[in-house]
Amino acid sequence: MSISSFQAPQRVLMGPGPSDVPQRILDALGRPTIGHLDPQFIVMMDEIKELLKYAFQTENALTLPISAPGSAGMEACFVNLLEPGDKAIVAVNGVFGKRMIENVQRCGATAIAVDQAWGTPVDPDAVEQTLAAHPDAKVLAFVHAETSTGAISDAETLCGLAKRHNCLSIVDTVTSLGGVPLYVDRWKADAVYSGTQKCLSCTPGLSPVSFSDAAVAAIKARTTPVQSWFLDMNLILGYWGQGGKRAYHHTAPVNALYGLHEALVALQEEGLENAWLRHATMHQALAAGLEALGIEFVVKAGARLPQLNSVYIPDGIDDAKVRGLLLEKYSLEIGAGLGDFAGKVWRIGLMGHSARRENIELLLTALVDAFGQQGLTLDLDIALKAVADAL
Ligand code: PLP
Repeated sequence: MSISSFQAPQRVLMGPGPSDVPQRILDALGRPTIGHLDPQFIVMMDEIKELLKYAFQTENALTLPISAPGSAGMEACFVNLLEPGDKAIVAVNGVFGKRMIENVQRCGATAIAVDQAWGTPVDPDAVEQTLAAHPDAKVLAFVHAETSTGAISDAETLCGLAKRHNCLSIVDTVTSLGGVPLYVDRWKADAVYSGTQKCLSCTPGLSPVSFSDAAVAAIKARTTPVQSWFLDMNLILGYWGQGGKRAYHHTAPVNALYGLHEALVALQEEGLENAWLRHATMHQALAAGLEALGIEFVVKAGARLPQLNSVYIPDGIDDAKVRGLLLEKYSLEIGAGLGDFAGKVWRIGLMGHSARRENIELLLTALVDAFGQQGLTLDLDIALKAVADAL
């Protein structure tokens, strides 16, 4: 048997992540590997922490990337803040809220779910009632940007409710970071985690996290050790801590961190507000084009994530055939529906570098072609004009 090198095809990524990775980031990944305790590498690590503070809008000293994907960032937040016997309230309005519940339970803590309809934002009134009914809760957890549905929740209000009820907030910002306004300090979020493969347009596999002073105090006040050795922030700090001696904890993914550094430098160059604005503008253009084709959004206007557009698959259209044609003929990926939305919905990502006019035009062209092959004839010119008018 002779297996040769893998040659990845050139795709346009308009799904729920990963997003298109710009060449400058791919170039950064290919730079020479150096030791993970090399003095020059440590300088770069400190820069990553500073750049992440900017991206998260925080002064939290404990801000760094976990060497594993977003799910590990999620787990890091739960295992560090929860001990067996604790209680956590979790708002569930999609797949990732459900995953939070599993994390709580695996910590030996009790999860109180605030179940919400899929495709809607978390309802602060329902959360407040639950907080009032459970004054012994230690944590309120929710997803800022639910990638499974495309709904954005009011993180500022929810973090404020957590503070008023003496809870620590855990906020999933995997899809929100870099794509929509996120102010960790101003909103007083306590533990946030994200991912590199969404609006930062970096490769998957790293999870930026940030912990407030209150969260750090709660970690220090634990009476039991953090159940996960790898995700114990006390130990991770020995490697990522500011200045001083760095101790070996695990071998950092050196080249992946070059990529993250480059992605964060690119974000700094563009400016956070400009990146948010670009996502919002491209979303308006995409929405105009899709609506001109008669395609309907799942989430009502005002609660839509610009970077993740969930739309209903038109009646009579075969989901898998459309996605197959898009991939084979146009090398274009969009996302299938997840969980309750499987087979009913497409998830169209406009994340990071993918949030560009040419991607929107390519998608509309490909959809009109795919629908035409299934007997649904639509006018591409009208859709492209709607995009142009929106821009
Ligand atoms: N949370 C949200 C909102 C996500 O969208 C994802 C991934 O899509 C995750 C958590 C998990 O991240 P990862 O797949 O990088 O582990």
